[in-house]
Amino acid sequence: MALSNTEYNAILREYEALQAAEQQVIRERKAELNRVLPAYRETEQKIAARAMERYLSRMQGDENGLNGLEEELAALETEKLEILRRAGYPVDYLRPAYRCETCRDTGFVDGKKCRCFRQKIIARLCRQGRLAASIERENFDRFSLDYYSAAREVPKLGMSERAYMEQLVLPQCRRYLENFDREKGNLLFTGKPGLGKTFLSHCIAGELLKRGHTVLYLSAEELFSLLAATQWRQRAESDEEKIKAREEKEFREYIYGCEFLIIDDLGTEFSNAFTTAAFFSLLNERLLSRLGTLISTNLDPKQLKAQYTERSTSRILGEYDILPFYGSDIRAQKRRQ
Ligand SMILES: [Zn+2]
Repeated sequence: MALSNTEYNAILREYEALQAAEQQVIRERKAELNRVLPAYRETEQKIAARAMERYLSRMQGDENGLNGLEEELAALETEKLEILRRAGYPVDYLRPAYRCETCRDTGFVDGKKCRCFRQKIIARLCRQGRLAASIERENFDRFSLDYYSAAREVPKLGMSERAYMEQLVLPQCRRYLENFDREKGNLLFTGKPGLGKTFLSHCIAGELLKRGHTVLYLSAEELFSLLAATQWRQRAESDEEKIKAREEKEFREYIYGCEFLIIDDLGTEFSNAFTTAAFFSLLNERLLSRLGTLISTNLDPKQLKAQYTERSTSRILGEYDILPFYGSDIRAQKRRQ
């Protein structure tokens, strides 16, 4: 479940390759400018000469000489940009096009992993959970209302299942995305299996990933087995166990700290007193940190109360926007087509 050292190193190599490619582009562009713009080349040579003088002045402790040089160098840099601009080049022509401006594609900011690094780790973990493949297939463009009946009515609402999805559920999901930067809310999708709950949660995950948020998708089974494993490994003895324990600890930090967590199919997992308590603490922590969580479940609120502790259920029912799904099993409909 957790990221292995090999995969961790593979991410580091991705950053190195990215930086090398960017530096190569800049080297080629400099060579090109030296070739086609004599004025640029001359200024570059002046800059190199003055920089050398500055270095020597510093070595000799010549403060007066240094002052004039700094100004001259700044003027030469401005002149260089002016030459570029006059020749029709963009002013940032010699600035690398970083994928991530925050860490300049190093993966680290002040010695800590950058958000893009954390997302790469999550993306690798999710690849194991097949999220990446799912969001290719399951996104808002491919969400079809045809599977929801235009004839059958949603109990007590006086609108068809299709109208309900179109006018209430989909707009609420879109609002959730619109508000995400300001306020990360929580969603609970309930309803029988096969009504599109997982599909719609993939739609939301995909949109958030596109915007660079950290997203993690776990089935309830995976989540609870991880919570159980963490309990077990607190007593880790051997080196191998310790490494595993460290990886799991790191992974647990993503579960607690990612901006958007999907827990799919709650109610199908094996649980015990420990995992149920750990589940509550996870929900609680995420609420306190104002991070977004989406839970999908086939259980109705009454069944939820029976299966989880009172405080977990009241947390969910009190703090989550509840979206019941109605209709008939889409997988069965597809099989009939
Ligand atoms: Zn970054």
